[in-house]
Amino acid sequence: MYEFAVTPAVTQLRRAGVIITEITPESLAEELGLESGDRIVKVNGRSVRDYLDFRFQTAGETELDFLVKKQNGETWEVELEREEGEDFGLMFEQIVPRQCANECLFCFCKGNPETARPSLFVRDEDIRLSFLYGNYTTLSSITPDEMKRIVEQRLSPQYVSVHATDLKTRAFLLGVDESRADISDKLEFLLNNDIEIHAQIVLCPGINDGAQLEKTLRDLAAHFPKVVSAAIVPVALTRYNTDERLTRVTPEFCRRTIKQVEKLQKEFRKNFGVTFAFLGDEIYLKAGMEVPSRRHYGNYPQIEDGVGMIRSFLNSFENLLKKTETRSPVSVQIAPNVRTHELALTPRKSTIETINPPSQSLNGTILTGEMFAPILRAQIEKINFLLGSNLSVLAVPNTYFGGDVSVAGLLTGQDYLAVKNKIKGDFAIIPKHTIKSDEPILLDGMPFDQLKDEFDVPIYEMDTQDLIAALERRAF
Ligand code: SF4
Repeated sequence: MYEFAVTPAVTQLRRAGVIITEITPESLAEELGLESGDRIVKVNGRSVRDYLDFRFQTAGETELDFLVKKQNGETWEVELEREEGEDFGLMFEQIVPRQCANECLFCFCKGNPETARPSLFVRDEDIRLSFLYGNYTTLSSITPDEMKRIVEQRLSPQYVSVHATDLKTRAFLLGVDESRADISDKLEFLLNNDIEIHAQIVLCPGINDGAQLEKTLRDLAAHFPKVVSAAIVPVALTRYNTDERLTRVTPEFCRRTIKQVEKLQKEFRKNFGVTFAFLGDEIYLKAGMEVPSRRHYGNYPQIEDGVGMIRSFLNSFENLLKKTETRSPVSVQIAPNVRTHELALTPRKSTIETINPPSQSLNGTILTGEMFAPILRAQIEKINFLLGSNLSVLAVPNTYFGGDVSVAGLLTGQDYLAVKNKIKGDFAIIPKHTIKSDEPILLDGMPFDQLKDEFDVPIYEMDTQDLIAALERRAF
């Protein structure tokens, strides 16, 4: 059996049930008289905590009864029958993340300026978000109920920040005592119940690298295939991370780590047929080396952690280049965002938007982080040649967070404003993920509309998939 060393640091006071946020017209839910704002408290006598519970408890059921708290204070008992697989026509509130009880040395919250928007200080640690979106948890604050829930509702895979299997090292990195840092029993419980684990190691020079890293990877690999993969990502320190126990990652450190891990990858591939331990893209870029081939990444098990994103982008772009033959001007369609798990799509609205560059000639500037800019620029030059377009790539320095931060996803409104005079052409494209998914606001709190007002040309938000889809539409 496993034990639990700690209760969650923050318990949110919430009323029981899950709140309906939208009803599809002419749906079963509308027929039943359910309305936005109503709370479904029980399904077939079982309590509902969130929309995952609702889905789990209704799955496969054709005869159901709901206990509903109406907005006007009434309590309804709703009995219904539905066809197998018939949709209720209900949209629910988002899951409110649970908070961690750690004090990690490298926590991103410590790297935020004090003025950063409040949501950047949310220290989420939630097994539901791990399942839905691939968010990592440390399992150090997990409750017995949550452990049971993972198994009962098959919330697999789970993404776990292991960092080190040596207990002292893990406790040091998490900033907690060893009893709390010890998740060996919890991992064993999950693995024994056939829950798949993807592990993460945030690599901190001088702490969990070298021999520690090898031990961690070997310990994890001993549980392959239930531990499906391990991602090794470098610690990223902003100018606000001043903890002297942390050392910044250097190109030399990256080259050394690649050399060390390559040996283990070779061994894992020989034994398991897959690479198993993947280094984050940033490690290759910082080392000044090419990212590995498509085969290295298999089915990209850790792409949500930025592992293999560049290879995936390069391959998709290569396909685009191969397909690009015509130069006829057409509108550009932005594809909807894609999330990790299909259930993650349920409460979110995806948007499809069509833009028509004013000149119809694709003459604009793509803004991105300093790290990705040279890679993107090389590809854009190729497409310019084929399409006769005039797109340019602008590397935007991250002055807001500073330090080692050069990834596109952490650019802020003020970073974009600082380069606005360098925009060429009729429009600008910024990375979509720099805008909050549920609110048009940038990481430094600047409303997206304000940024649009400050620019002389229209701004569009896209991720690399959107960009490739847009260029493809342009070409065909
Ligand atoms: S678990 Fe995550 S959120 Fe919590 S302290 Fe560590 S890095 Fe920060």
